Amino acid sequence: MATAGKVIKCKAAVAWEPNKPLVIEEVEVAPPQANEVRIKIVATAVCHTDLHHLLESMEKEGFPVVLGHEAAGIVESVGPGVTEFQPGDKAIPLFISQCTECRFCKSPKTNQCEKAWVGSHNVLPLPKSRFTCKGKKLLQFTGTSTFSEYTVVNQMAVAKIDPAAPLDKVCLLGCGICTGYGAAVNTAKVEPGSTCAVFGLGAVGLAAVMGCKAAGAKRIFAVDINPDKFEKAKVLGATDFLNPKDHSKPVSQVLSEMTNGGVDFSLECVGNVAVMRSALESCVQGWGVSVIVGWTDMEDFSARPVQLIGGRTWKGSVFGGFKGKYAVPQMVKNYLDKKVKVDEFITHNMTLDQINDAIELMKQGKCIRVVINVSSQ
Ligand code: NAD
Ligand code: ZN
Repeated sequence: MATAGKVIKCKAAVAWEPNKPLVIEEVEVAPPQANEVRIKIVATAVCHTDLHHLLESMEKEGFPVVLGHEAAGIVESVGPGVTEFQPGDKAIPLFISQCTECRFCKSPKTNQCEKAWVGSHNVLPLPKSRFTCKGKKLLQFTGTSTFSEYTVVNQMAVAKIDPAAPLDKVCLLGCGICTGYGAAVNTAKVEPGSTCAVFGLGAVGLAAVMGCKAAGAKRIFAVDINPDKFEKAKVLGATDFLNPKDHSKPVSQVLSEMTNGGVDFSLECVGNVAVMRSALESCVQGWGVSVIVGWTDMEDFSARPVQLIGGRTWKGSVFGGFKGKYAVPQMVKNYLDKKVKVDEFITHNMTLDQINDAIELMKQGKCIRVVINVSSQ
């Protein structure tokens, strides 16, 4: 490869400071060092967690940064010590690493990895960033930074996928779809014949609906304050639709009345502490399980202890509990075998130059996923 071992100059969307539009800049992406892989990003999507970092967390220490963590691409070159990847491999970067060696990676109970190479504020410590712009180092969000034509990722945070996979579709398996689907299947462990409620019908919540259906739930309540989301929820398997704004009673009470005391499983896919409480209170005493998927590290939540004393379980889930290196290639295969849906989540296709329009669409709730076509496959 002509570019191997050299600095690549390419386009990336840079977030110079919180709550400002991203700027398309020429950046320098250094060659991969030991155990690192440089990837040409073919397609990336915008996830609400990117917006959270840019617009909600407002942590100055997290800037300037290249956002983006839901993507797929082609390996351009590899650093010393990399044996698992070769130039030309199709790959999906992972925002949760899987070193396969630490006590967490060795345990079937979790997908957390002790060697997670991301530090505080969800960014890679500066010395590890391979991005420079105008002489200044840029942080790598979640260690991935996919709003760029090229990125460098540690090999423990990359999944190799089927060469037949269309990258402009399977990029969504890098975060949103695996997150919601796995939260239902792996974390909640939804049971056949059960009743479920999913709060928030973005890509994460819609994927949770798909997971509940795959697990055999007989009734799936789709809850959102934006009724435009109900149509897609139906396509993915929801049976009942609830807009909390249509009811004078709390939505947990409405659900309780409709289900003889509450649902068996609830999933919060919004990132709002009040909704987290509501989702907990929507599940049935005795055995109800409520899973927090929505992301926030800004606020505390509250609940009455009796909710848990009465037998409910409150859990959280990151990346659907999936160990990325094993699960992402399998989910790609499931998509190719038509066992999981992906195309249905894509409402728009854009170019990297239009990234701020994509962010605006998500802010306004007018998209499910915008796929940014960054480079040709
Ligand atoms: P999104 O913005 O596309 O969807 C959020 C949905 O929630 C929207 O449809 C919105 O109308 C709805 N909503 C807002 N307030 C509501 C309320 N009070 N009641 C019911 N619905 C409400 O976001 P997304 O990309 O699907 O992400 C959803 C959440 O999941 C975000 O918080 C994101 O940061 C988080 N996330 C978590 C993980 C993880 O690993 N745990 C991974 C990815 C994303
Ligand atoms: Zn995400």
